Amino acid sequence: MLFPIDKVISILEQDVKRYRAPIVDLVAVQTKDPFKVLVATILSARTKDEVTAAACRRLFKHIDTAEDLKSLDKENIEKIIYPVGFYRNKARFLHALPLALDSLFKGRIPDDVDSLVKLPGVGRKTANLVVSVAFQKPAICVDTHVHRIVNIWGYVNTKTPFETEMALREKLPEKYWIRFNSTLVAFGQQVCKPIRPLCDRCIISALCPGIKMKSSVKSGNKHTENGYDRYGYKRFFSWNVNGLRALVKKGFMDVFYHLNADVLALQEIKATPDQLPEEILKIPSYKSYWFPARKKGYAGTAFYTRLNPVNVKYGLGIDRFDSEGRVITLEFEDYYLVNTYFPNAQAELKRLDFKLEFNEALFTYMESLSGKKTIIVCGDFNVAHKPVDLANPDANENNPGYSQKERAWMDKIVDAGYIDTFRKFSGEPGRYTWWSYRYRARAKNIGWRIDYFIVDPSGEKRIVGADIHDDIFGSDHCPVRLDFV
Ligand code: SF4
Repeated sequence: MLFPIDKVISILEQDVKRYRAPIVDLVAVQTKDPFKVLVATILSARTKDEVTAAACRRLFKHIDTAEDLKSLDKENIEKIIYPVGFYRNKARFLHALPLALDSLFKGRIPDDVDSLVKLPGVGRKTANLVVSVAFQKPAICVDTHVHRIVNIWGYVNTKTPFETEMALREKLPEKYWIRFNSTLVAFGQQVCKPIRPLCDRCIISALCPGIKMKSSVKSGNKHTENGYDRYGYKRFFSWNVNGLRALVKKGFMDVFYHLNADVLALQEIKATPDQLPEEILKIPSYKSYWFPARKKGYAGTAFYTRLNPVNVKYGLGIDRFDSEGRVITLEFEDYYLVNTYFPNAQAELKRLDFKLEFNEALFTYMESLSGKKTIIVCGDFNVAHKPVDLANPDANENNPGYSQKERAWMDKIVDAGYIDTFRKFSGEPGRYTWWSYRYRARAKNIGWRIDYFIVDPSGEKRIVGADIHDDIFGSDHCPVRLDFV
């Protein structure tokens, strides 16, 4: 699989706006002066940004131009820039700089790499940085962060920063060159750190083949589940997308990366895989499983997972339900995750009998799994269980989704010991997962809680969190979440 560099750069360029800019960029922005950028770049080698920034502030109080630098002797410069790394060498380079500029370039700062490397203390990295940051000309500065991160991604396979620079010149689109160093330095300083990278908080972890993983089950099994060392637990999301093709146009991929799910269960996909774009069929690090309805543009379920299931089961073995793509099960080492799209009882409860038959068939299926492994059932249940689960319970009494018989099935599940995981953590009213498209229902929060994660009693201690992500838009439902050890 090719590394999706365009996607990653677009995500990171947004993300790093939250971080402190690297010192050389700051000097460039603040001074717009190639001489000061050159000096800051020389000082910054093997030195923390805070130390470089302080040294720059002190030095630029004494000098404004290369000409001014002539007035300082080497010892003076040493004292001013101390404690930057290799301050004695750097003082020597700075002291020699004005003369070199005069003799080689008539006092001006050159704007190309080949000329800059002729100056004292200026290597390719410094030269590339000055060209890109000070002159805004295409050049790729490869420092340790850039070299390390692009190799972690597998975007290049190189041994030295020079090899990396050459490889990037070959394959990285030129439009990214100027900003590439500052983006990756900020990202490398804050998230993808050289020691203990923060993969659990990394916005591109879903795309990164170098994410730090650990096996959560005994080695030697043919199928093992890769537990990601992110939260110390697995994070599952369930979302009725109400048409995946439409949602793709509304930014499904951005939400996908934002959720950063270990498993994402989708309902009402209303599409077959051949109707979907390549980018969502092959998401790096994830496998996907599709169970569309036979009827085009209708119902259907799907899974994305970066955990490896030991088995995948499509349907309940009952054609009238399976033809609508209503249930997929991922079986893992010690639990089942059942993704379900319950039928809608429809206006005047026209399809209530069909729904109740489905409910019973699903319950029988759950019973058949019971006792073997923990059972998690998620999805759009198409029913609000209690009055607290919808905005207008009285007005909706016996309406589809809130009829006595549908709620009685939920009672039966709870009586059998299944845990409504959201209610384990919150008794709050006003937390809904579905809103009608009519009457600005979502803006007014006139909604229903009809999407659930339920877990059988054997898994109670493994439930570590559950929530509703009502800040996510794009469908008339929002995603719901379960954190599970
Ligand atoms: S997932 Fe981890 S290794 Fe990969 S880019 Fe993010 S922080 Fe770095």
